[in-house]
Amino acid sequence: MGRRIAPSSAPKRCTAVSREDDAELHEQITELREAVSARDAFIAIAAHELRNPMTPIRGQAELLLRKVRRGGCSTDEIEFGLERIEWLINQYMKRASALLDVSRITSGKLSLTPERVQLASVMRASVASLLPLAQHAGSTIELAVPDSLVGEWDSLAIEQIIDNLVSNAIKYGAGKPITLSAAAEGRSALIRVRDHGIGIPDEERARIFDRFERAIGSGSHATGFGIGLWLVRQLVEAMDGEVTVDTPAGGGTLFAVKLPRQTKAVL
Ligand code: ADP
Repeated sequence: MGRRIAPSSAPKRCTAVSREDDAELHEQITELREAVSARDAFIAIAAHELRNPMTPIRGQAELLLRKVRRGGCSTDEIEFGLERIEWLINQYMKRASALLDVSRITSGKLSLTPERVQLASVMRASVASLLPLAQHAGSTIELAVPDSLVGEWDSLAIEQIIDNLVSNAIKYGAGKPITLSAAAEGRSALIRVRDHGIGIPDEERARIFDRFERAIGSGSHATGFGIGLWLVRQLVEAMDGEVTVDTPAGGGTLFAVKLPRQTKAVL
Protein backbone atom coordinates (compact mmCIF):
# COMPACT_ATOMS: atom_id res chain seq x y z
CA MET A 1 0.00 0.00 0.00
CA GLY A 2 1.44 3.46 -0.94
CA ARG A 3 2.08 6.07 1.74
CA ARG A 4 0.04 9.31 1.52
CA ILE A 5 1.80 12.71 1.50
CA ALA A 6 0.07 15.47 3.51
CA PRO A 7 -0.03 19.07 2.14
CA SER A 8 2.37 21.29 4.17
CA SER A 9 -0.30 24.06 4.60
CA ALA A 10 -2.56 21.87 6.72
CA PRO A 11 -0.72 21.03 9.92
CA LYS A 12 -3.76 19.46 11.68
CA ARG A 13 -4.49 17.22 8.72
CA CYS A 14 -0.77 16.49 8.44
CA THR A 15 -0.73 15.21 12.03
CA ALA A 16 -3.74 13.01 11.32
CA VAL A 17 -2.17 11.54 8.18
CA SER A 18 1.12 11.04 9.94
CA ARG A 19 -0.67 9.05 12.64
CA GLU A 20 -2.24 6.98 9.90
CA ASP A 21 1.22 6.40 8.44
CA ASP A 22 2.52 5.42 11.84
CA ALA A 23 -0.30 2.94 12.28
CA GLU A 24 0.37 1.46 8.86
CA LEU A 25 4.08 1.17 9.57
CA HIS A 26 3.35 -0.37 12.94
CA GLU A 27 1.07 -2.90 11.29
CA GLN A 28 3.77 -3.80 8.75
CA ILE A 29 6.37 -4.23 11.50
CA THR A 30 3.98 -6.49 13.44
CA GLU A 31 3.36 -8.57 10.31
CA LEU A 32 7.09 -8.88 9.70
CA ARG A 33 7.72 -9.89 13.30
CA GLU A 34 5.01 -12.53 13.05
CA ALA A 35 6.53 -13.87 9.83
CA VAL A 36 9.98 -14.08 11.44
CA SER A 37 8.63 -15.84 14.52
CA ALA A 38 6.65 -18.29 12.32
CA ARG A 39 9.88 -19.06 10.47
CA ASP A 40 11.76 -19.56 13.75
CA ALA A 41 8.99 -21.81 15.02
CA PHE A 42 9.23 -23.90 11.90
CA ILE A 43 12.99 -24.32 12.26
CA ALA A 44 12.53 -25.44 15.85
CA ILE A 45 9.79 -27.89 14.87
CA ALA A 46 11.96 -29.26 12.08
CA ALA A 47 14.85 -29.82 14.47
CA HIS A 48 12.60 -31.56 17.02
CA GLU A 49 10.79 -33.75 14.54
CA LEU A 50 13.91 -34.80 12.66
CA ARG A 51 16.12 -35.44 15.65
CA ASN A 52 13.80 -37.50 17.88
CA PRO A 53 13.19 -40.41 15.49
CA MET A 54 16.96 -40.80 14.94
CA THR A 55 17.32 -42.35 18.41
CA PRO A 56 15.53 -45.66 17.66
CA ILE A 57 17.34 -45.90 14.30
CA ARG A 58 20.71 -45.50 15.97
CA GLY A 59 19.69 -47.93 18.74
CA GLN A 60 18.72 -50.60 16.23
CA ALA A 61 21.92 -50.14 14.19
CA GLU A 62 24.06 -50.38 17.34
CA LEU A 63 22.22 -53.51 18.47
CA LEU A 64 22.82 -55.20 15.12
CA LEU A 65 26.47 -54.15 15.02
CA ARG A 66 27.07 -55.54 18.52
CA LYS A 67 25.51 -58.88 17.53
CA VAL A 68 27.56 -59.10 14.33
CA ARG A 69 30.80 -58.21 16.17
CA ARG A 70 30.13 -60.83 18.84
CA GLY A 71 29.95 -63.38 16.02
CA GLY A 72 27.53 -66.25 15.55
CA CYS A 73 24.87 -63.91 14.09
CA SER A 74 22.84 -65.81 11.51
CA THR A 75 21.96 -64.37 8.09
CA ASP A 76 18.31 -64.44 9.19
CA GLU A 77 19.07 -62.31 12.24
CA ILE A 78 21.04 -59.82 10.15
CA GLU A 79 18.24 -59.66 7.60
CA PHE A 80 15.67 -59.11 10.34
CA GLY A 81 17.79 -56.34 11.87
CA LEU A 82 18.26 -54.61 8.52
CA GLU A 83 14.55 -54.88 7.75
CA ARG A 84 13.82 -53.23 11.07
CA ILE A 85 16.24 -50.38 10.27
CA GLU A 86 14.69 -49.98 6.82
CA TRP A 87 11.24 -49.75 8.39
CA LEU A 88 12.43 -47.12 10.88
CA ILE A 89 14.01 -45.09 8.07
CA ASN A 90 10.75 -45.22 6.13
CA GLN A 91 8.95 -43.91 9.22
CA TYR A 92 11.56 -41.18 9.46
CA MET A 93 11.01 -40.16 5.86
CA LYS A 94 7.27 -40.02 6.38
CA ARG A 95 7.83 -37.71 9.30
CA ALA A 96 10.18 -35.50 7.30
CA SER A 97 7.58 -35.05 4.59
CA ALA A 98 4.96 -34.29 7.24
CA LEU A 99 7.00 -31.26 8.25
CA LEU A 100 5.51 -29.33 5.41
CA ASP A 101 2.08 -29.88 6.96
CA VAL A 102 3.40 -28.80 10.33
CA SER A 103 4.66 -25.56 8.84
CA ARG A 104 1.16 -25.00 7.51
CA ILE A 105 -0.26 -25.12 11.02
CA THR A 106 1.46 -21.83 11.74
CA SER A 107 -0.02 -20.22 8.65
CA GLY A 108 -3.44 -21.78 9.30
CA LYS A 109 -3.37 -23.73 6.04
CA LEU A 110 -3.09 -27.33 7.25
CA SER A 111 -5.47 -29.72 5.59
CA LEU A 112 -5.91 -33.21 6.96
CA THR A 113 -7.02 -36.20 4.98
CA PRO A 114 -9.36 -38.48 6.90
CA GLU A 115 -9.12 -42.18 6.08
CA ARG A 116 -10.02 -45.38 7.88
CA VAL A 117 -7.45 -45.88 10.61
CA GLN A 118 -7.18 -48.88 12.94
CA LEU A 119 -5.81 -47.47 16.20
CA ALA A 120 -4.34 -50.82 17.28
CA SER A 121 -2.01 -50.97 14.28
CA VAL A 122 -0.83 -47.35 14.68
CA MET A 123 -0.23 -47.93 18.40
CA ARG A 124 1.62 -51.19 17.85
CA ALA A 125 3.85 -49.51 15.26
CA SER A 126 4.55 -46.60 17.59
CA VAL A 127 5.44 -48.93 20.48
CA ALA A 128 7.67 -51.03 18.20
CA SER A 129 9.60 -48.00 16.98
CA LEU A 130 10.01 -46.54 20.48
CA LEU A 131 10.82 -49.80 22.26
CA PRO A 132 14.62 -49.43 21.98
CA LEU A 133 14.32 -45.96 23.53
CA ALA A 134 12.07 -47.31 26.31
CA GLN A 135 14.44 -50.20 26.98
CA HIS A 136 17.34 -47.80 27.17
CA ALA A 137 15.40 -45.74 29.74
CA GLY A 138 14.42 -48.91 31.66
CA SER A 139 10.68 -48.56 31.00
CA THR A 140 8.26 -51.23 29.82
CA ILE A 141 5.31 -50.28 27.61
CA GLU A 142 2.01 -52.06 28.09
CA LEU A 143 -0.47 -51.72 25.24
CA ALA A 144 -4.22 -52.24 25.59
CA VAL A 145 -6.39 -51.51 22.56
CA PRO A 146 -9.12 -53.53 20.86
CA ASP A 147 -8.49 -54.40 17.19
CA SER A 148 -12.07 -53.31 16.48
CA LEU A 149 -11.38 -49.64 17.30
CA VAL A 150 -11.36 -47.76 14.00
CA GLY A 151 -12.06 -44.18 13.03
CA GLU A 152 -11.86 -41.66 10.21
CA TRP A 153 -8.67 -39.77 10.92
CA ASP A 154 -5.59 -38.44 9.23
CA SER A 155 -3.25 -41.36 9.82
CA LEU A 156 -0.07 -39.29 9.92
CA ALA A 157 -1.59 -36.93 12.49
CA ILE A 158 -2.62 -39.90 14.67
CA GLU A 159 0.92 -41.32 14.44
CA GLN A 160 2.45 -37.98 15.42
CA ILE A 161 0.09 -37.57 18.37
CA ILE A 162 0.82 -41.04 19.76
CA ASP A 163 4.57 -40.89 19.05
CA ASN A 164 4.93 -37.55 20.80
CA LEU A 165 2.98 -38.61 23.89
CA VAL A 166 4.76 -41.96 24.20
CA SER A 167 8.22 -40.46 23.68
CA ASN A 168 7.44 -37.91 26.40
CA ALA A 169 6.29 -40.73 28.70
CA ILE A 170 9.69 -42.37 28.09
CA LYS A 171 11.65 -39.10 28.48
CA TYR A 172 9.93 -38.04 31.69
CA GLY A 173 8.89 -41.51 32.90
CA ALA A 174 11.83 -42.12 35.25
CA GLY A 175 12.38 -45.62 33.86
CA LYS A 176 9.04 -46.82 35.27
CA PRO A 177 6.25 -48.71 33.46
CA ILE A 178 4.21 -46.91 30.81
CA THR A 179 0.70 -47.83 29.72
CA LEU A 180 -0.76 -46.91 26.34
CA SER A 181 -4.45 -47.67 25.91
CA ALA A 182 -7.42 -46.78 23.77
CA ALA A 183 -11.13 -47.50 23.99
CA ALA A 184 -14.34 -46.42 22.33
CA GLU A 185 -16.36 -43.84 24.26
CA GLY A 186 -19.65 -43.09 22.58
CA ARG A 187 -18.89 -41.58 19.16
CA SER A 188 -15.29 -40.93 20.16
CA ALA A 189 -12.11 -42.83 20.81
CA LEU A 190 -10.26 -42.18 24.04
CA ILE A 191 -6.49 -42.63 23.93
CA ARG A 192 -4.56 -42.65 27.21
CA VAL A 193 -0.83 -42.48 27.84
CA ARG A 194 0.09 -43.05 31.46
CA ASP A 195 3.54 -42.91 33.04
CA HIS A 196 4.81 -43.05 36.63
CA GLY A 197 7.53 -40.45 36.19
CA ILE A 198 8.34 -36.95 37.41
CA GLY A 199 4.78 -35.64 36.90
CA ILE A 200 3.68 -32.11 36.02
CA PRO A 201 2.91 -29.57 38.76
CA ASP A 202 -0.71 -28.27 38.72
CA GLU A 203 0.35 -24.71 37.90
CA GLU A 204 2.31 -25.88 34.82
CA ARG A 205 -0.44 -27.94 33.19
CA ALA A 206 -2.07 -25.30 31.01
CA ARG A 207 1.25 -23.80 29.87
CA ILE A 208 2.95 -26.97 28.60
CA PHE A 209 0.69 -27.03 25.53
CA ASP A 210 1.98 -23.65 24.40
CA ARG A 211 4.78 -23.37 21.88
CA PHE A 212 8.31 -23.45 23.34
CA GLU A 213 6.99 -23.98 26.87
CA ARG A 214 8.65 -26.53 29.15
CA ALA A 215 7.71 -27.30 32.75
CA ILE A 216 10.17 -25.89 35.27
CA GLY A 217 12.63 -28.53 36.39
CA SER A 218 12.29 -30.73 33.32
CA GLY A 219 15.54 -29.39 31.87
CA SER A 220 17.77 -31.76 33.77
CA HIS A 221 15.74 -34.79 32.70
CA ALA A 222 15.73 -34.42 28.97
CA THR A 223 16.43 -32.06 26.15
CA GLY A 224 13.63 -30.63 24.06
CA PHE A 225 12.21 -27.50 22.52
CA GLY A 226 8.77 -27.55 24.08
CA ILE A 227 7.20 -28.19 20.68
CA GLY A 228 5.84 -31.74 20.98
CA LEU A 229 2.75 -30.99 23.05
CA TRP A 230 1.97 -27.87 21.04
CA LEU A 231 2.00 -30.06 17.93
CA VAL A 232 -0.19 -32.66 19.66
CA ARG A 233 -2.78 -30.06 20.60
CA GLN A 234 -2.82 -28.49 17.13
CA LEU A 235 -3.36 -31.86 15.47
CA VAL A 236 -5.94 -33.05 18.02
CA GLU A 237 -7.95 -29.85 17.70
CA ALA A 238 -7.68 -30.00 13.91
CA MET A 239 -9.58 -33.30 14.20
CA ASP A 240 -12.18 -31.75 16.53
CA GLY A 241 -10.71 -33.52 19.52
CA GLU A 242 -9.45 -32.56 22.94
CA VAL A 243 -6.26 -33.31 24.83
CA THR A 244 -6.02 -33.11 28.62
CA VAL A 245 -3.38 -33.87 31.22
CA ASP A 246 -3.81 -35.08 34.79
CA THR A 247 -1.91 -36.35 37.77
CA PRO A 248 -3.47 -39.72 38.51
CA ALA A 249 -3.56 -41.38 41.94
CA GLY A 250 -0.14 -42.90 42.48
CA GLY A 251 1.69 -40.03 40.72
CA GLY A 252 3.19 -39.67 37.26
CA THR A 253 1.29 -38.20 34.34
CA LEU A 254 -1.80 -39.18 32.38
CA PHE A 255 -2.45 -37.66 28.96
CA ALA A 256 -5.90 -38.28 27.50
CA VAL A 257 -6.84 -37.59 23.89
CA LYS A 258 -10.49 -37.71 22.92
CA LEU A 259 -11.15 -37.85 19.19
CA PRO A 260 -14.49 -38.06 17.43
CA ARG A 261 -14.37 -41.17 15.26
CA GLN A 262 -15.39 -39.05 12.29
CA THR A 263 -13.56 -35.78 11.70
CA LYS A 264 -13.67 -32.79 9.40
CA ALA A 265 -10.98 -32.64 6.73
CA VAL A 266 -9.80 -29.07 7.12
CA LEU A 267 -8.17 -27.05 9.90
P1 ADP B 1 9.79 -31.14 25.07
O1 ADP B 1 10.45 -31.16 23.74
O2 ADP B 1 10.36 -30.15 26.02
O3 ADP B 1 9.61 -32.49 25.65
P2 ADP B 1 6.90 -30.99 24.86
O4 ADP B 1 6.06 -29.93 24.23
O5 ADP B 1 6.75 -32.37 24.35
O6 ADP B 1 8.38 -30.49 24.73
O7 ADP B 1 6.60 -30.96 26.40
C1 ADP B 1 6.54 -29.71 27.06
C2 ADP B 1 6.93 -29.90 28.51
O8 ADP B 1 5.91 -30.63 29.19
C3 ADP B 1 8.20 -30.70 28.71
O9 ADP B 1 9.35 -29.90 28.62
C4 ADP B 1 8.01 -31.24 30.12
O10 ADP B 1 8.34 -30.25 31.05
C5 ADP B 1 6.49 -31.44 30.20
N1 ADP B 1 6.08 -32.84 29.95
C6 ADP B 1 5.60 -33.35 28.79
N2 ADP B 1 5.26 -34.65 28.92
C7 ADP B 1 5.54 -34.98 30.21
C8 ADP B 1 5.40 -36.18 30.99
N3 ADP B 1 4.91 -37.30 30.46
N4 ADP B 1 5.78 -36.12 32.30
C9 ADP B 1 6.26 -34.97 32.84
N5 ADP B 1 6.42 -33.81 32.16
C10 ADP B 1 6.06 -33.80 30.87
